[in-house]
Amino acid sequence: MFRIEDVIEKVEKNRPEPNIELIRRAYMFSALHHRGQKRASGEPYLVHPLAVADMLAEMRLDEVSVSTGLLHDVVEDTLIDLDTLRSYFGEEITHLVDGLTKIAHISNLSKEKQQAENVRKMVLAMVTDVRVVLIKLADRLHNMRTMQFLKPEKRARISQETLDIYAPIAHRLGMGKMRSELEDLSFQNIYPEEYKRLSKEVEVRRPELDEALEKITKKIEKGLTENDVPYVEIQGRVKRLYSLWKKLKKRKLTIDQVYDLIAARIITPNDRKNCYVALSVIHDIWTPVPERFKDWIAIPRDNLYQSLHTSVIGDNGQSFEVQIRTEEMHHVAEEGVAAHWKYKEKKLGKQDEDESLDELRKTVEKLLLPLVETTDSNEDSEDFIESLKLDLYPKDVYAFTPRGKIVQLPRGSTPIDFAYAIHSEVGDTCTGAKINGRIVPLKSELQNGDVVEILTTSNSKPSRDWLNYVVTSRARNRIRHWISDQQRAESIEIGRKLLEKETEKFRISPKKMLNDDDAMKRIANEYGLGRAEDLLASIGYGKTLPRNVLAKYLGAEKFAELDPEKRKETRLETGMKAVKKFIGLGEDAIIVQGVDNLLTTRARCCNPLRGEPIVGYISLGKGIVIHNKNCRNVKQLMINRDRVVDVEWAKSDSQEIQSVKILATTENRTGMLAGITNAIAEIKTGIRDARAKISRDDKGLIEVTVEVFDKKHLDRVVTSIEQVPGVIAVERVNSN
Ligand code: MN
Repeated sequence: MFRIEDVIEKVEKNRPEPNIELIRRAYMFSALHHRGQKRASGEPYLVHPLAVADMLAEMRLDEVSVSTGLLHDVVEDTLIDLDTLRSYFGEEITHLVDGLTKIAHISNLSKEKQQAENVRKMVLAMVTDVRVVLIKLADRLHNMRTMQFLKPEKRARISQETLDIYAPIAHRLGMGKMRSELEDLSFQNIYPEEYKRLSKEVEVRRPELDEALEKITKKIEKGLTENDVPYVEIQGRVKRLYSLWKKLKKRKLTIDQVYDLIAARIITPNDRKNCYVALSVIHDIWTPVPERFKDWIAIPRDNLYQSLHTSVIGDNGQSFEVQIRTEEMHHVAEEGVAAHWKYKEKKLGKQDEDESLDELRKTVEKLLLPLVETTDSNEDSEDFIESLKLDLYPKDVYAFTPRGKIVQLPRGSTPIDFAYAIHSEVGDTCTGAKINGRIVPLKSELQNGDVVEILTTSNSKPSRDWLNYVVTSRARNRIRHWISDQQRAESIEIGRKLLEKETEKFRISPKKMLNDDDAMKRIANEYGLGRAEDLLASIGYGKTLPRNVLAKYLGAEKFAELDPEKRKETRLETGMKAVKKFIGLGEDAIIVQGVDNLLTTRARCCNPLRGEPIVGYISLGKGIVIHNKNCRNVKQLMINRDRVVDVEWAKSDSQEIQSVKILATTENRTGMLAGITNAIAEIKTGIRDARAKISRDDKGLIEVTVEVFDKKHLDRVVTSIEQVPGVIAVERVNSN
């Protein structure tokens, strides 16, 4: 078990002017809040943060990192929250602990194995400080080392996550020792049987392997000494179990068919020349396998790894690998970025340390970038990094479904993008969203780690507005597609009505014509259109005149004969017209069921009220726009007479509420506003807004927005306002 004094000793040895006081306080705080907690092994919980802190001290990380190691689980596992932590330890440590807590949260959520790639990206996306990665790796390594007390299923799950997420990160950072240990422990816990079997197979061969290794190292030693080549150490080793197992599986080999079961390594003093000289000695002793020589010294791997690799044919005909590297290269190969400081000057000032940390940050970002950008996680890929971006993860944001499935979206995405990413049906019927349990506007920007729940209503439809705040092309395309479908459906419907009206004018059956598929198709073709529907749509859009369509349908002769413009009206028709005119109905009006439905929208300029005389205007993409007949815009619209249609209000029981603005001019005296709102309330009418001001000529101007059902209702409101003492005039105001 580690003691805090051991940790402090390491920090004092490795760091300039360390803030030991901070580490002691962190230790006390952690001990206090984890007190009484036990690990699965039965040991006090504190053992774990201490072990993590020790590893970080070993890596020569700063005292902030070491203190964070001590505190890394207090928010996750005790009652301490971030604010409390901040009040004791300040922003920097709190920020690091927050990052670690978020990552812990991700691990708890993700259960699907195929999400590994995404989880790894997300873990990295959450890292705003590179120290978080190193602390997390230390945390994970200690947990892996001590997992024998957990249940097998839990061990397997954590190990799989380690294999999928943390071992590749360690590899990327060049932390060879960390990666090997994580992988071997994971292998052991995911496939305990195979691990046992394979290690037994190796053990059986151990004496023979050791003997072979000894012969090899002796021979190397002799060769180097005879040639005066300096060396620090010659190592002989047996291949790691996990990489051996992977190789056997991938190549479908048995253990006896593996040629590189053993390997030798020469570590030379810190001058790369020594490596090349040593290489020449090796190639002098044994014959090299030509295509297997690799010079990672001249061209280092992008994870900083440097070494010479050569395979030679041994005395018994079996080939084996020899790696040659300097002491410094060896440390980098084992510890990767964590070795970064070890070769800095021993006596560093505080400022140099900060610069050094900054350098480390850049290195880590550079190394981790490919992990995030490539979709295939081919761990052997040694592609060089094309660009050096400071923002590691500028492009993506990762959010969860309530069930923990990860959805990867571009930055700036909203719940609507999320909804369409799940399923187009979900997007189409989306009516609201919750983020982390709270209802939010649909245009809210998603943040990393958000849990997003989409609220849907089965008959709900997409909105054109959404186009203003979706960023994914998938969502955009679906919404556009829906709008154009919708517009087409509307224009077909309008076209059908217009054509029906026209046939009635010619006194032929609309049904007969519209159901005459051949004729409709023929006419459509004459207009260069494919189908009858296209013809109707074209009429609806106002591109094709129904009268001309009828001319083509009837043929010139018949058309002339039936043309209502040349035909005399029957007495009945004349009589009906008179009656309709008398009761205030348009002759062939389209019935407006309500406003703002599929076919019709209310014109903003005059805001027509149910009961008021109205006229319709076919507007591209909006269907029929309903204007008040007296609207001043209507006169201008009349220029395009073909698009003007008669419309009338349907008799309806549905009480649709509409807001109307009224302006009352009054004498300038107190209580006017109250008097008017009282009068409106008395006739049980809703008030949306009311405001008063004084005009230049010292009159009261009171603007009230009321909610009315129709023209009659509005008239009643106006009358009741007019009766309030002091009111001079009342008028309706339109928005423009
Ligand atoms: Mn932990």
